[in-house]
Amino acid sequence: MHAMVLQKPGGPLQLEALADPEPGPGEIRVRVSACGVCRTDLHLLDGELPDIVYPIIPGHEIVGHIDRLGAGVTTHQLGARVGIPWLGHTCGHCQFCLRGTENLCDAPAFTGYTRHGGYATHAVADASYAFPLDGLSDDVAAAPLLCAGLIGWRSLVMAGDAERLGIYGFGAAGHIVAQVARWQGRKIYAFTRRNDRTAQDLALQLGAAWAGAADERPGLALDAAIIYAAAGELVPAALQAVRKGGRVICAGIHMSAIPSFPYSLLWGERHVMSVANLCRQDGLDFLRIAREAQIRTHTTAHPLSDANGVLARLRQGDVLGAAVLVPDLYS
Ligand SMILES: [Zn+2]
Ligand SMILES: [Zn+2]
Repeated sequence: MHAMVLQKPGGPLQLEALADPEPGPGEIRVRVSACGVCRTDLHLLDGELPDIVYPIIPGHEIVGHIDRLGAGVTTHQLGARVGIPWLGHTCGHCQFCLRGTENLCDAPAFTGYTRHGGYATHAVADASYAFPLDGLSDDVAAAPLLCAGLIGWRSLVMAGDAERLGIYGFGAAGHIVAQVARWQGRKIYAFTRRNDRTAQDLALQLGAAWAGAADERPGLALDAAIIYAAAGELVPAALQAVRKGGRVICAGIHMSAIPSFPYSLLWGERHVMSVANLCRQDGLDFLRIAREAQIRTHTTAHPLSDANGVLARLRQGDVLGAAVLVPDLYS
């Protein structure tokens, strides 16, 4: 197989020819048809996540077709199309797994971080953590659903019944969550980088009531805000934008330091919360809703070998919606 491999902190990823991986007991192997590029991949590249073991193949928004079944796998068929998300494995017996919060497992595995991911022509996954993708659109369009969509969904659930919802960082997750939230009847207020007219226009096209820069205010108090951007200064900004009792949800795996802020911003029973990973039930719930709500992802497809260029554009804020790597593009 071929893969874009991270050999050391800072990268760059290197295109390598490797032996085809064999699925172990309980695992499946897929031929990757599309793999979404997530901001978390930048944190991996930059060595900002703890305990990275090199070399590692990034990528945790994998759409593929099963081309080999490991021993004992009865839940999937050869040839079936599946999605492989960030949550790659959980222990099943720690206090968090037993309590129904496997997203917080003490001994988890994460796709494209602690096990090899989908920046490759082939990937192996634990069959119990792969989702069937029946009824969803084409492979490239489905890829961003597997992290931006799933974790976006978990953060939207955490926003409770908020009717006026702020979204800080209108990228892959933001543009999916906005569609779900609109379908649920909520109002969306989209906050982007200053002068990012293309992201603001996309937000308005998707039904946002307002779009502007993160330091602007929509002229009313929000019920909740979800922060997808990795900038800690957005936390006090979002607290300032929500009403008493409102929630600010931090949905990224990594964020720059949150600057100190006056207690008055938190006062009034405002909450600051984080979203970590996903439970498999989040995936099942969200993929059903993605079909019902007919979520349309805004994607651009790139050859697998262009992963470094795509990551650089994501860092610059030059990706509208979601970027997706396609091993077979142009080959
Ligand atoms: Zn566990
Ligand atoms: Zn992700």
